[in-house]
Amino acid sequence: LSDRLSGVLDKLTKQGALSDADVSTALREVRVALLEADVSLPVARDFIKAVQEKATGQNVTKSVTPGQQVVKIVHDEMVHFLAGDDANAGQLKIDNAPAPILMVGLQGSGKTTTTAKLAKRLAERDKKRVLMASLDTNRPAAMEQLAILGTQIGVDTLPIIKGETPVQIAKRAKQQATLGGYDVYMLDTAGRLHIDQELIQQAADVRDVTKPRETLLVVDGLTGQDAVNVATEFDDKIGVSGVVLTRMDGDGRGGAALSMKAVTGKPIKFVGLGEKMDALEEFHPERIAGRILGMGDIVSLVEKAQETIEAEQAEKMMKRFVKGQFNMNDLKGQLEQMQKMGGMEGIMGMMPGMKKMAKQVEDAGFDDSVLKRQVALIQSMTKKERANPAILQASRKKRIARGAGMEVSDLNKLIKMHRQMADMMKKMGKMGKGGMMKQAMK
Ligand code: GDP
Ligand code: MG
Repeated sequence: LSDRLSGVLDKLTKQGALSDADVSTALREVRVALLEADVSLPVARDFIKAVQEKATGQNVTKSVTPGQQVVKIVHDEMVHFLAGDDANAGQLKIDNAPAPILMVGLQGSGKTTTTAKLAKRLAERDKKRVLMASLDTNRPAAMEQLAILGTQIGVDTLPIIKGETPVQIAKRAKQQATLGGYDVYMLDTAGRLHIDQELIQQAADVRDVTKPRETLLVVDGLTGQDAVNVATEFDDKIGVSGVVLTRMDGDGRGGAALSMKAVTGKPIKFVGLGEKMDALEEFHPERIAGRILGMGDIVSLVEKAQETIEAEQAEKMMKRFVKGQFNMNDLKGQLEQMQKMGGMEGIMGMMPGMKKMAKQVEDAGFDDSVLKRQVALIQSMTKKERANPAILQASRKKRIARGAGMEVSDLNKLIKMHRQMADMMKKMGKMGKGGMMKQAMK
């Protein structure tokens, strides 16, 4: 959305375009920031390159330097990239009870802690019945650890039977979850200090007997390059559905998030923010991007400048409309802009003062699929008709509707909408700057 927004705003501001040199200079600084934040070198390089192509030629918002503009573009790109395209990426698939969730990762990454945190969240927020099982047969203390956490958060754990293999435990967990009517069972696997064949094989065997709905890779968010190698290995051998970044409460900048996403393409689902059981948060791309880039001041400065211009533009347009100058051409412009901005929802909140109008139009039974047809109708009008819709009589209406391949009733709806919009803008103007218009601007 912000992409489209700045695109539109840039056109409006008619400032100079970003030159190659502007972009290169600014990106050199961004590159340093990324590396300082522990983003891996190849990922930083690729990311910079992608932004470079995108940024060059974009316009600079008034009262902002080219460098600042580039930082804002970088920031938006990073948010977009971290968020991914899948709208449900942050959700866990836990339908078809009992849903197995497999937790994998290196020793000390925070698997056991995260298993319990997630179990607590599922139990409390989602009202799920959760069973946790420790498969860490190498370290009896680790199995105890999960049991203690379970008692602490009020979530059941599978009783420990000495001498079982991880696969045997996993099978028993599945059975217990089914018989016991659990919604979810979580499998906390053993870790190693380094990835090795045995560890991978163990996780793969457990995967095969339980067919997890989610396989979450738990990674220490403060480790840089190493984390990426681990992620690649786990994903190749076991298949990962999502990532949890732990220790993001530390003072590192968390560049692993960017690397992880770039290398595995897997969604980051949660972020660990401490040792406590409620120190788990859904992943917020905005927050992490701000932290990785470490240039929050510049980003908000550019945002402010864009908002100011946005308001100025809306006001200018309003002034014209208020004088009764809102004709069919204006309506066409509005409709086309709506299309560009991703329909009604896109324009809402984006054009100050238009919020109320968009709502009215929507209430009148208008949806985005109609936009194209509306524009076609206006295109079928003559110049004179567009400038002065009052002259639209029966014969003209018939011609216009036919020309657009539609019915006169469709055209009547458009005319009605135009009239409503024009009326409303006049009204808004009459109430003066201090009145409704100001309110609508908020
Ligand atoms: P495992 O070996 O992967 O199971 O890791 P553990 O869950 O046992 O965690 C290792 C240590 O990291 C423990 O002392 C945890 O309390 C700590 N830990 C886990 N997640 C976080 C986190 O998000 N922030 C902080 N500060 N510590 C964490
Ligand atoms: Mg553990």
